[in-house]
Amino acid sequence: MSEKDFDVVQMRTELHEMPELGFHEEKTSKYVVNKLKELGLNPQTGIGGTGVVAYIDGTEPGPTVMVRADMDALPFVIDNKPCSIHACGHDSHTAMLLALAAKLVGNVKKGRVKLFFQPAEETLLGAVRSIEDGVLDDVDVAFGAHVRPIQDIPDGTVCAAVRHTSSTFLEVELKGKTCHAARPHLGCSVVEAAVLATNAVNAIWMNPGKVWSAKVTAINCCGSASNIIPDHGKMILDCRAQDNPTMKEMLDKIKRAILNAAEAVGVEATVNFPGGIIPAAEYDEGLVAETAGIIKEVLGDDKLAKDCGGGGEDFHYFVQKKPSIRTAYIGVGAGVTPGLHDPKMTMNPESLRNGVAVLEKMVLNQVG
Ligand SMILES: [Zn+2]
Ligand SMILES: [Zn+2]
Repeated sequence: MSEKDFDVVQMRTELHEMPELGFHEEKTSKYVVNKLKELGLNPQTGIGGTGVVAYIDGTEPGPTVMVRADMDALPFVIDNKPCSIHACGHDSHTAMLLALAAKLVGNVKKGRVKLFFQPAEETLLGAVRSIEDGVLDDVDVAFGAHVRPIQDIPDGTVCAAVRHTSSTFLEVELKGKTCHAARPHLGCSVVEAAVLATNAVNAIWMNPGKVWSAKVTAINCCGSASNIIPDHGKMILDCRAQDNPTMKEMLDKIKRAILNAAEAVGVEATVNFPGGIIPAAEYDEGLVAETAGIIKEVLGDDKLAKDCGGGGEDFHYFVQKKPSIRTAYIGVGAGVTPGLHDPKMTMNPESLRNGVAVLEKMVLNQVG
């Protein structure tokens, strides 16, 4: 292998040209497999669908340290044509993990490093499917990384923790009883139930010291005519909270508010979470402190950015499903503008070198 073949900027450029949606990362995983084989590693494919795993073994006993990169792009419609674009920087993460692998080969003394190229983060299903395939079974420590927009941290800096929030959406089915609008007492209106439920949700009080939000984002209770009381409807709510206990408390209150508000007008409500509940970040604070020290040591004191947050990440299912795993997750300031998930997203790929350098030291502190 030559240094140039594992240049993070070059690999990011190549991966940027092959954006693929979640669970369809065929070209990307082939690219990853070929690179890993060039390094003399023995990649396993089909993890959680299109995911790839490879190990770099030490000679002495020690922990299994997993570094995870996501691989999928996002769907857009441009000029009336559907397309996929790497607008969340997962091409950068895949390139960083490959560059990291090249640096680690031959330098792992104890335990082993598990390189995990995860499918379908954007669908928030990739981590769960991979866990079902046993990706966590042998893991003691898990590291992750994400490029950050300029609004979060300056280009060229790195933060020791991205404090992702918990998020979910609720689908509420409403079942009432139809009747003539001239005889409303013979029916139960889902419109009234939806209005009462919305007001009940908006009247929920939570600790003002915590960050949380619950918004009704859709109400669909259309009757078939202006003089018919509608008997079925649907509501959607978007809910976010800074930590997992706050989310649990809020969802308990929301469910109670909706079920009781609907019942008040004789409507039956059922509440579902079709996308699951994405957990908030729960890092090992010892590892986070160690990471902050590493960023200063490797890049300089002025390159340690403040922790940033916002958005969801399916990485946090790891601790939920295997609480003994210790995790840390860096944010790499890469001048992302105008922002993540924008089809015109651009960034400074040179800054990915900072992410690789910090991850290398994080891993070697465990297994070097
Ligand atoms: Zn994203
Ligand atoms: Zn992302």
